[in-house]
Amino acid sequence: MAIQQADYGDLLLEFINTYRDSKGKPTYLNQINEIIAYRKKSIIINFSDLFNFNEQLATQIINNPKEIFPILENKIYDYIIEKDPSFQDEIKKIHLRITNVPRLIELRKIRSSDAGKLITIEGILVKSTPVKERLSRSVFKHINPDCMQDFVWPPEGEFDEIIELPTTCPVCGKAGQFKLIEDRSEFIDWQKAVIQERPEEIPPGQLPRQLEVVFEDDLVDSARPGDRVKIVGILEIKKDSQIKRGSKAIFDFYLKVNSIEISQKVLDEVKISEEDEKKIRELSRDPWIREKIISSIAPSIYGHWEIKEAIALALFGGVPKIMEDGTRVRGDIHVLIIGDPGTAKSQILQFAARVAPRAVYTTGKGSTAAGLTATVTRDKNTGDYYLEAGALVLADGGVAVIDEIDKMREEDRVAIHEAMEQQTVSIAKAGIVAKLNARATVIAAGNPKLGRYIAERGIAENINLPPTILSRFDLIFILIDKPGVEDQLLASHILNVHAGKTKSTEIIDVDLLKKYIAYARKNIFPKLSDEAKSLLQDFFVEMRKKSSESPDSPIIITPRQLEALIRISEAYARMALKNEVTREDAERAINIMRIFLENVGLD
Ligand code: ADP
Ligand code: MG
Repeated sequence: MAIQQADYGDLLLEFINTYRDSKGKPTYLNQINEIIAYRKKSIIINFSDLFNFNEQLATQIINNPKEIFPILENKIYDYIIEKDPSFQDEIKKIHLRITNVPRLIELRKIRSSDAGKLITIEGILVKSTPVKERLSRSVFKHINPDCMQDFVWPPEGEFDEIIELPTTCPVCGKAGQFKLIEDRSEFIDWQKAVIQERPEEIPPGQLPRQLEVVFEDDLVDSARPGDRVKIVGILEIKKDSQIKRGSKAIFDFYLKVNSIEISQKVLDEVKISEEDEKKIRELSRDPWIREKIISSIAPSIYGHWEIKEAIALALFGGVPKIMEDGTRVRGDIHVLIIGDPGTAKSQILQFAARVAPRAVYTTGKGSTAAGLTATVTRDKNTGDYYLEAGALVLADGGVAVIDEIDKMREEDRVAIHEAMEQQTVSIAKAGIVAKLNARATVIAAGNPKLGRYIAERGIAENINLPPTILSRFDLIFILIDKPGVEDQLLASHILNVHAGKTKSTEIIDVDLLKKYIAYARKNIFPKLSDEAKSLLQDFFVEMRKKSSESPDSPIIITPRQLEALIRISEAYARMALKNEVTREDAERAINIMRIFLENVGLD
């Protein structure tokens, strides 16, 4: 039996009143009470709850949202007013927000057949405008000495994105000029943003796709650039101006947001089955697991053991700490490789980006206007200013892989200091003031300033990066291309790789390694043992002493290096899925720190 449109409102009220969750709680009735108590503007309904209640109503909501939403929203509003008449003095409209809509469409697969439907998209919010005011309903005055009457416009509903004036005065029926009376008109908070495909979803070699979205009313500012979001909304055709004779017939899409969920759980993006977990646990019991992991980093690259080790450490990472006073110490291990051209730096970096659970790969110049940190950009067509997230913000919770970091732009040189240590990016430009999260590990590579690394000179003279940035890296390695004894082995390794002969059983494949890393980062939070503590302490004191004896060394030993040692020890423990940092982990950390310091000329 067909249900009449008007009945859907009653059905929805019945749903709200009768629904009980698995614990017997009246979820939606509770929401209605909250809306009344706290003067909220939205009710949020899970699509599958509604679908289980009445398939037809649920289907109408996703297939015919533009017609059905006003009916349902009015019904809920009237229901609330009935319960509390004073509500209407403060709130004029209730939004029905639907989450968990199953029609999930990839950004690159949106087609005209989806227009007007309620769909779900996923991606990263890369930029957003400040909050503006959209005129929704206005009061006009008819400027004509015979009339001069005020009237509400449009008579029903509200404006779309474009204001359409009446052709004749609805009061006197004559044509004429109409003047907007602003203080009697209604405005809605409005914000535009751009959603981009997640880097891991972009087919290799393709540019990321984007979609404009519009947030209104209580949804504005609910997400910030860099957030990974799941958005439900109505797909609309963008009309920038009124259609007239000679208008172009080509349009863009945008999504009018109905509900938004922000995903916090980076590591859930990598799916780990029970079988995977078994494999991971078993691998971790191998006494040589760390060596196995390190050999599995870029296996087609010959040698460079310490660099692969550093990359592995960065991928596993230490444990971030929140102090009692609220300050946060990063757990991310930043790694820099400086080296001669052609020493496989880019190859190693690309591998790191592939195996990291969440990674953004970019070059120092940046692949977007936002560069490495963030910027304010202006849309050429509309003139809107946007706050746009750069690589470190987009990589929040994961790894920012930056090749050719020495070619970084001036603005980034300033902002990257804050991004690497405090792990936030602050910006104040063109009226936009914001602070974005950038809790990302930096794995970077750079070329020597003079074309080749000159070992006789210090590191600061060899690379076009100030010491303040260098000191924010936990580990720095220098790759010098020395022709010599190893060339035989290098050549035969490369030739074997090209002949497809490296399948070693000792190597963990990329897929499993990625899962292993995600598993460790999600579940393992090692704590320092007393033994490890005292070892690190002694080594730090020794380093400080040496550093004070050679005051012009490029790396000044500060408490930062002690923090680095702690992070590195934790990462070693994590690699073996251990919950305690033992003596052995501390020893390894000290060892690799020694190699780094000797490498950069402090020993
Ligand atoms: P860089 O970024 O350091 O200038 P690339 O990563 O572009 O160098 O490497 C240049 C090429 O040389 C790549 O194809 C890489 O595989 C090869 N190559 C360089 N060093 C090695 C090595 N140690 N083992 C295997 N291949 C190497
Ligand atoms: Mg390169």
